[in-house]
Amino acid sequence: MPKAVILALLKRVASSDLPEILVEVEKGIFKSDLSKLQNEIQETRYSSGQYKCPFCGDDHIVKNGKAKGNQRYLCRNCGKSFSQQTQTPTVYSKKETKVWIDYIECMIKGYSLRRCSEECQINLATSFFWRHKILDALSSFMGAGEVDGLVEADECYLRYSYKGNHSKSKRFKMPRPSRKRGGESVGKRGLSSEQVCIGTALDRTGNILIGMIGTGRAKYDNLKRFFEGRIAPHSILCTDSAHGYGKLATQLDLEHKAIPSGKHMRGIYHIQHINAFHSNFKSFLEKFRGVSTKHLYSYLMWFKWIELFKDEKEILKIQKAYVQSQASYSVISNEAISSREPLFV
Ligand SMILES: [Zn+2]
Repeated sequence: MPKAVILALLKRVASSDLPEILVEVEKGIFKSDLSKLQNEIQETRYSSGQYKCPFCGDDHIVKNGKAKGNQRYLCRNCGKSFSQQTQTPTVYSKKETKVWIDYIECMIKGYSLRRCSEECQINLATSFFWRHKILDALSSFMGAGEVDGLVEADECYLRYSYKGNHSKSKRFKMPRPSRKRGGESVGKRGLSSEQVCIGTALDRTGNILIGMIGTGRAKYDNLKRFFEGRIAPHSILCTDSAHGYGKLATQLDLEHKAIPSGKHMRGIYHIQHINAFHSNFKSFLEKFRGVSTKHLYSYLMWFKWIELFKDEKEILKIQKAYVQSQASYSVISNEAISSREPLFV
């Protein structure tokens, strides 16, 4: 369509629709020159202390010529040669960067694996592996994290899911008949080892802790293993009145504010943010129609990422997710994704 026609049409667009159009224009400009991303990946590696050899971790690195237009580097310590793509999710991919960017955009929009595969014209299995490669890289970029200051903590429970562990597989026996869809949230009543316990904590500056801490009701030992070293000293821990947290606060030398159930407010001490976080988390998971427990950790990290960057414009989210997933030197093979075990803290 000629430019003049589009510009003429733009004048007829309702002003309320303009922001959406602007977003698409910005995305078009961004995708038209992705070469800038290479610098950004390099800078992100510098600033996150990842400018080092992907094989031995040494930072004595020199430039080593170019291959197919890509800068190559040589590690003076181990003598291995590598490029910016080495140990990234895209390293063996034959698809262009633009397809990966489109894929990340689909993920941010919350599309299903099938829709992602259709939009990006890749097959469904590839769509599955790309999602997990990207999530794996983002998890390692974010790391476990730490919360500080006024901290709200609580746990929530999901039904254990064996989705993806095919019953026809010789190596895997279903421990129970497959009746209900797994990965759904469950209440705290009647907990058993069929439930996965997710530990969560937030502070008031936006830091997030989330992880799988065990099966069945949270035990003190699990809570301690999850939270120890990840709540800054002298923080104030706000929780419900469940057992375990009082002892935890004493052990970790934290001030403890237990909020009795039904009483939501005690001035600045409350657990409303963590309650809202849990309900957002449940809506997030529902979109995936049951997540296999062996892949659950990746989805926890994806939810964390979405929450961390929820106030950013979509185009910046796409850019950040791509750059971070490329900057973190993390690559997981398709085989390793398929044979993964649930990752408990
Ligand atoms: Zn090296």
